[in-house]
Amino acid sequence: MTLIDGKAVSAQIKQEIAAEVEQIVAAGGKRPHLAAILVGHDGGSETYVANKVKACEACGFKSSLIRYEADVTEAELLAKVEELNQDADVDGFIVQLPLPKHISEQKVIEAIDYRKDVDGFHPINVGRLAIGLPCYVSATPNGIMELLRRYNIETSGKKCVVLGRSNIVGKPMATLMMQKTNPGDATVTVCHSHSKDLKKECREADIIIAAIGRPDFVTGDMVKEGAVVIDVGTTRVPDATKKSGFRLNGDVKFSEVAPKCSFITPVPGGVGPMTIVSLMKNTLLAGKKAIYQ
Ligand code: NAP
Repeated sequence: MTLIDGKAVSAQIKQEIAAEVEQIVAAGGKRPHLAAILVGHDGGSETYVANKVKACEACGFKSSLIRYEADVTEAELLAKVEELNQDADVDGFIVQLPLPKHISEQKVIEAIDYRKDVDGFHPINVGRLAIGLPCYVSATPNGIMELLRRYNIETSGKKCVVLGRSNIVGKPMATLMMQKTNPGDATVTVCHSHSKDLKKECREADIIIAAIGRPDFVTGDMVKEGAVVIDVGTTRVPDATKKSGFRLNGDVKFSEVAPKCSFITPVPGGVGPMTIVSLMKNTLLAGKKAIYQ
């Protein structure tokens, strides 16, 4: 069994990005600039955004954090989005989700200029992904593809089961795995809360990508010998031994599943670090105007 080290791979990619940024700047080019809008004080969102800002520093990017209290109006937020759309210095920006209930997330996503949508959530980027055109790809699935690539994991012709069908993980993941690319070319099954006999589907899979947010859902009896298991789940579960009082738990029961796998990602230290680094890669592409002018 090989443990997929997302932490090490992401550190390596950050170095690669930083080296490229220094080359760009040395040649008189512009330092990529990522802006992030954070609404309210949700603990998870605060941590994610702080980590994104830190990753920008490591990559040599300029970053701007724009904060609003949770009672900001939708109109105010949309006005800021439009301002960032027009700001020539900002190459890409994100609005950290979730947003307070009185704000329509979909409206905000659609207000972002797709050419600056480095999260890859805008319908134009999602649509372009579906038909295999260059676009900003959602960070978590893109990070998983990078892990498969860097670990030389064969996906062509393999049976891949994706657990979960969210717009940010499950659906784009399934799209990427069935793309005519390497990695890709897999035979993909997407399972969700209405799927019948999920155990059977998993047992037949060469590759399982679990993104449902149910701690320890995938147990040893659901995985065939030699399978590749990618665990996206990160649920906070109470843990008195931790200073924070909680730990992050994956969707996979690691102790049972790992011994059967050819490759597996741990939680934490697997998919998580790759998600942030994928956002950095999209920001570099935005800075270079590599996808859209
Ligand atoms: P989500 O929007 O809540 O979607 C969960 C999906 O799982 C839904 O499609 C749901 O089915 C399905 N599901 C839930 N319970 C199920 C069950 N018992 N059996 C079968 N399917 C079930 O979640 P998400 O945003 O995709 O995130 C999934 C997990 O990944 C969460 O733990 C999240 O924290 C984590 N995550 C981690 C990263 C990272 O960087 N590591 C990034 C993003 C997300 P229905 O559609 O039928 O409701």
